[in-house]
Amino acid sequence: MPDIYMMRAESGVTYLRASHLPCPHGFSTRLGGVSTHPETVSLNLGRGFADDDATVRENLDRFAAAVGFDSDTLVSLHQIHSPDVRTVTAADAGLGYSRPSDETADGYVTCERGVAIGIRTADCVPILAAAVDEAGRPYAVGAFHAGWRGTVAGIATEGVRRMVALGARVEHIRVAIGPCIHRCCFEIDDAAREVFVAGLGGEMTDRFVLPSREGHYDADLVGINLALLAEVGVSGGRVAVSDLCTRCRGDLLYSHRRDGRKRGSMLSVITLPK
Ligand SMILES: [Zn+2]
Repeated sequence: MPDIYMMRAESGVTYLRASHLPCPHGFSTRLGGVSTHPETVSLNLGRGFADDDATVRENLDRFAAAVGFDSDTLVSLHQIHSPDVRTVTAADAGLGYSRPSDETADGYVTCERGVAIGIRTADCVPILAAAVDEAGRPYAVGAFHAGWRGTVAGIATEGVRRMVALGARVEHIRVAIGPCIHRCCFEIDDAAREVFVAGLGGEMTDRFVLPSREGHYDADLVGINLALLAEVGVSGGRVAVSDLCTRCRGDLLYSHRRDGRKRGSMLSVITLPK
């Protein structure tokens, strides 16, 4: 079975990678950056929190050096908890970080080299994917932001569909799910449960949204995303999952449930090798 394991660069940047994705990629943690504000210490990769943009940029450059992608090419736009996946070309390189943009997207797919794609999370489910041929060569990649609304809207299956539309064979697609809020910490109320039922149906909801106390439920976003991926043919030994819960691990990860806006943001990036 593929494994997700932690890496620590000489700079101190600490991130997770998956053993079955043979291209530069990583799920960041909060360790190894230059943010000194108590809310964001230290590898905050999201703008709009306690750090100025120069600090976030320095963190991005450190993360990029550790993982092995070109920070100038990173595409990562405003996220709106949609199932919208953008097909990225080299012409998009830098959108969001190096080149300001008002565009939005919650996922990216590309088969072009020389451009990195990334999504930001702090509890939401980060999904990285690569299509790898029989010779072990990656030829398409994807990055998807699956918050609970995006999960319910089916961004995981939409992401696979869009990789296939780019020419990926579904049996070649490998997926890694990074640190996110797990069932231990993701309680929702009746109103939110109704959104799950409306989007996923009662059967899926009953499998993964389990009663806790009166009027409340524990939702298993990882379980739902795994089930959705399996429905479109991505399962078994082609899927790896981190068991780290963002809310439980304040020493290592940012969490919106735990800290609200007094936090930073993680970044999950993948790119095809040059
Ligand atoms: Zn937890």
